Amino acid sequence: MQNIYEEILKNMPNSEVKQNELMSKHTSFRIGGPADIWIRVKDIDELIYIVNYANKNNLELSIVGNGSNTLVKDKGIRGITISPCFENIDIKWEGDIAIVNAGSGVKLPVLANELLKNEIEGFEFASGIPGSVGGAVRMNAGAYGGEMKQIVESVTFINEEGNLITVRNEDINFSYRYSRFKEKKEIIVNVKFKLSKGNAKEIKEKMDDLNGKRIEKQPLNMPSGGSTFKRGNGFITSQIIDEAGLKGYKIGGAQVSEKHAGFIVNTGNATAEDVLNLVDYVIKVVYEKYGKIIEPEIEVIGE
Ligand SMILES: Cc1cc2nc3c(=O)[nH]c(=O)nc-3n(C[C@H](O)[C@H](O)[C@H](O)COP(=O)(O)OP(=O)(O)OC[C@H]3O[C@@H](n4cnc5c(N)ncnc54)[C@H](O)[C@@H]3O)c2cc1C
Repeated sequence: MQNIYEEILKNMPNSEVKQNELMSKHTSFRIGGPADIWIRVKDIDELIYIVNYANKNNLELSIVGNGSNTLVKDKGIRGITISPCFENIDIKWEGDIAIVNAGSGVKLPVLANELLKNEIEGFEFASGIPGSVGGAVRMNAGAYGGEMKQIVESVTFINEEGNLITVRNEDINFSYRYSRFKEKKEIIVNVKFKLSKGNAKEIKEKMDDLNGKRIEKQPLNMPSGGSTFKRGNGFITSQIIDEAGLKGYKIGGAQVSEKHAGFIVNTGNATAEDVLNLVDYVIKVVYEKYGKIIEPEIEVIGE
């Protein structure tokens, strides 16, 4: 890996390239072993270079955005792991319609605040989701009745062959926590949102209200990957986990949050194995008690 690292370092001067980087530093779970090579990519040509390089050298390429929906396993990630760090925000007006271009590395709360400053409404629901624009589109992130599907106009990405492509909303196959980006290793670079002119006071009130609800209900003071499980089909997942008596249940350092049973939290020294064992245990107990199938929402990578 040393030769590969040196070659990449030489060819990606505008990005940040590291070797054996602990992924616990880059995930909200604060869990995860080392990535052989970790690159914060800041330049589009360098992104194309690394996709081609990985293809040519048969190296696994993984993507991590802000790491807020990802559990990296304890032995870490082989090959190359990239984090797209495009942080541009550009706003254009067409009458009362705001066309907002955001780089895939922009954090949703940062974008929400920029939109607030420009009196643009429609993004409030996402203001408390701690992900990047790229990760949010891939996951069709949503909350409080809003989701990416409703506001994305088009997405520009690098495909598996290293080509830059733009697709419109209707070609993204958005559905609940799903998009076409879950099927292929397409790396999102830029997202164009269509939003509208609003009133700063009302936007701020809505953001404060929703974020107040988060603070009240979610264990935001503990590391987690957000809601660990998907919404139930005809039932509320966190409620059924709670009813099964699992609130506070612990395996190693992983615990079903005492505040919100839908969250598995890291109490300080959890391993990925602890989290995965607890996920399996919760799924098993809920199925045995109620015959209901619950599915994880978090993405698991590495070995
Ligand atoms: C406290 C807390 C609260 C949360 N609340 C919500 C909520 O209300 N609603 C909700 O939907 N989610 C929520 N989440 C989960 C998470 O924040 C979202 O899923 C978010 O959109 C993930 O973005 P990310 O950049 O952190 O993605 P990551 O975890 O880094 O990645 C998620 C997936 O997207 C892929 N990916 C990341 N960036 C790109 C890119 N540029 N191109 C292609 N693929 C990419 C990764 O490979 C991975 O498979 C919460 C998480 C936490 C910790």
